[in-house]
Amino acid sequence: MGSLSFEKEFEPSAVTPRGLAPPGLIGNGDFGEMKRLKVATPTAPRKNLNITVTEPGSRNDGQSLDCILMNYIDTLSQRINYHIGYPVNICYEHYASLAPLLQFHLNNCGDPFLQNTVDFHSKDFEVAVLNWFADLWEIEKDQYWGYVTNGGTEGNLHGILVGRELLPTGILYASKDSHYSVAKAAMMYRMDFEMVNTSVHGEMDYSDLKVKLLQNKGKPAIINVTIGTTFKGAVDDLDVILQTLKDCGYTYDQFYIHCDAALNGLIIPFIKNMISFKKPIGSVTISGHKFLGCPMPCGIQITRKSYINNLSRKVEYIASVDATISGSRNGLAPIFLWYSLSAKGQVGLQKDVKRCLDNAKYLKDRLQQAGISVMLNELSIIVVLERPRDHEFVRRWQLSCVRDMAHVIVMPGITREILDSFINDLLQQRKKWYKDGNVTPPCVAEDIGAQNCACSYHKIDFIIP
Ligand SMILES: *Cc1c(COP(=O)(O)O)cnc(C)c1O
Repeated sequence: MGSLSFEKEFEPSAVTPRGLAPPGLIGNGDFGEMKRLKVATPTAPRKNLNITVTEPGSRNDGQSLDCILMNYIDTLSQRINYHIGYPVNICYEHYASLAPLLQFHLNNCGDPFLQNTVDFHSKDFEVAVLNWFADLWEIEKDQYWGYVTNGGTEGNLHGILVGRELLPTGILYASKDSHYSVAKAAMMYRMDFEMVNTSVHGEMDYSDLKVKLLQNKGKPAIINVTIGTTFKGAVDDLDVILQTLKDCGYTYDQFYIHCDAALNGLIIPFIKNMISFKKPIGSVTISGHKFLGCPMPCGIQITRKSYINNLSRKVEYIASVDATISGSRNGLAPIFLWYSLSAKGQVGLQKDVKRCLDNAKYLKDRLQQAGISVMLNELSIIVVLERPRDHEFVRRWQLSCVRDMAHVIVMPGITREILDSFINDLLQQRKKWYKDGNVTPPCVAEDIGAQNCACSYHKIDFIIP
């Protein structure tokens, strides 16, 4: 294994990238206030490093493995100030405390509530994390079942599978703006799928849901409710959906609701608690690496214990029962989640939520004042704006674009300083793109509504605060 093994004493500071806080300065639990690199002039996107695997001793270009890694880490630490287009919380001050865990292979395969015959798992931490979420979503410890997944997608695949096992002839309903993993589930499970329209804000169109529920009255409904859509951050109203089911004559045994709360699952509870197992819902899922933050992708899936017997299989090989989708499961993720939750606490999370909502509002206001098309949904930290004209700009800021829209996700690690630097860069570039009037900013009235569109045609309706 050469120089990558931990035979040597593991020394986390040896891999601390330049500019990130040294381990001595960390651990006050206030992750969001971490000092990051000073925002310098925009750096270019990273290039392909053309890495190869070489035999030990055959490297004659003088680059050691450590050197290649340091280089890579250095690039990442510079690009981190331009990471504003995707929902990852990049404040990992706890890496130093947790780094020694990399000396072990931790595998949580099988049921989290049954101890393995092998000691190298972290199910104790996993259950602690699950209990915390069960509490948050108001279900008793002896009433729920769940596990730490490899991400929001696996949670969706699991939740929808639970629904399908309970209601094998059910039709899957999901809005046009729901995550692509939902359509993937429909394909994998060969389920009938009804796509429900959305409003211009990205929220489910409940009258369209009603029409479709009535059309399919003979078959049960499995509904994916998105608590924070991926692109626009719209929150489907669970209560309105439950009322619609009732109005259409669906009884409790004729529907199953899966809540996909990948990003907003840790934002909503601090503003307006909508997700609760006191309501007739079947499962809730959330991504662990999004709002909470974790260096590796992970997620949490919670469902009702009584639903899981259908899915559980005894597996002699692992001496456990398995109702999960994966085989081997990452044992590091639950420890990182447990550490983050414990270090932040409800108060810390609430502070993160408030700061992100304030910063998102700040970004939206500044763009609006500058005459740029922009939309920010209620309860959301996703600022949707007109697509920047230049691909290089999009790449520099690592933005995600759909049609004529782009978005900035104002996560806990994103400071006002970073936002200001983005705004200034955008304003400067726009002057160049649109200087002679031959090209004009795109019209996004159909994407985000005429009142949010500042194109030359809709400018008159555009509300400047
Ligand atoms: C990100 C996201 C997912 C998928 O989560 P992963 O952790 O990336 O698998 C699912 N649903 C929504 C609404 C998301 O935004």
